Amino acid sequence: MTSLETWVEVPKNSDFTIYNLPFGVFKNKRLSARIGIAIGDKIVDLSILDQEGFFSDMFLPEGVFLQDSLNELIALGKVQTRKIREKVQELLLAENEKLRDHSIRGKVMVNRREAEMLMPVKIGDYTDFYSSMEHATNVGKMFRDPENALLPNWKHLPVGYHGRASSIIPSGQDIFRPKGQFKDADMDSPGFGPSRRLDFELELAFITGKSTKLGDTISTADAEDYIFGFVLFNDWSARDIQAWEYVPLGPFLGKSFASSISPWVVTLEALDYFRVDGPSQDPEVLPYLQCEKAHSFDLQLEAYIQPDQVKKATKVSTSNFKYMYWNVAQQLAHHTVNGCNINVGDLMASGTISGPSEDSFGSMLELSWKGTKPIRLDSGEERKFIEDGDTVILKGFAEKEGVRVGFGELKSKVLPSK
Ligand code: CA
Repeated sequence: MTSLETWVEVPKNSDFTIYNLPFGVFKNKRLSARIGIAIGDKIVDLSILDQEGFFSDMFLPEGVFLQDSLNELIALGKVQTRKIREKVQELLLAENEKLRDHSIRGKVMVNRREAEMLMPVKIGDYTDFYSSMEHATNVGKMFRDPENALLPNWKHLPVGYHGRASSIIPSGQDIFRPKGQFKDADMDSPGFGPSRRLDFELELAFITGKSTKLGDTISTADAEDYIFGFVLFNDWSARDIQAWEYVPLGPFLGKSFASSISPWVVTLEALDYFRVDGPSQDPEVLPYLQCEKAHSFDLQLEAYIQPDQVKKATKVSTSNFKYMYWNVAQQLAHHTVNGCNINVGDLMASGTISGPSEDSFGSMLELSWKGTKPIRLDSGEERKFIEDGDTVILKGFAEKEGVRVGFGELKSKVLPSK
């Protein structure tokens, strides 16, 4: 990749480099909701650039950046959004004086610290896959049969379910411990109350940027045309509620109370440099799931827990997106193979991404092995699951030969049940 320099001061190890330039929606004390691009500790206010005529050759709809979601912008299509991102990249290059020396510069570059990040997308539908073999194997071992941990369909199709979009919330928003029914092995009849096994799930999700009509299918070869970008995704789970309710129709109230997403949508273009092959698939998959090229990314994913009143978060997991058995092209091809239509702003999550080693598991369920092996935090406390007052932080980034692209943080605190 050509090495790029910018006139913006970018702190070392910042996820928001000149190579990244993710899209997000923000506001602050002075400014109403609008769309920006992150670089270093700044946000480029795209609406001001637009007003000043920097995008005049693109004939964008009026006010396209003065929106409280990215939906209208990404609906313009990849050709347009790519041009916008490339234009901003060009304007931020060290040698480019057009914005650097322009009197409007101070107004365009907003401090990220003073901005409130909003939900980046109005999510119509949310699907959660179950695409990490290590995760599915761990869960199968714990809840079913250690000898046959994977169900017979698992290596033939990307298993998934339809989730709840209304309870997807942005980073920084607290969640309430869910209440529900549970029936532990030693209970004769179900009990009710706040979940005693609240968990996070370390996931990545993609956002679709193009619609299909009912009856249409998307091939693995075309799938990436429909993917606008990615966010970190914490698919909060109540393991006790989940274990009691999930047979025969799958996850319901153990999942639907909240899922958190990171505010900056990292484009597929920004991740392209980190493309790698996923795990080899054996047995061979059906033709509609076969891929011509690599659709996985070498992207480190981390989970941290920070108890209330404790200054420093403890890293409890280091995983990687590349461990995923089923890739995003296969997920989208499978999702639409029955003719199910997708819309701009749908969110499709990977499922918990666990790696092969015990410190790479993507949930407390696996890290504490169903509560039998508590995790020790730096503060000296132990955790089997997530306690009230705990903040869970997810991070994700790719780094290769001095080029870094990442998501920043996804942070949410757990409050007691209402
Ligand atoms: Ca999940």
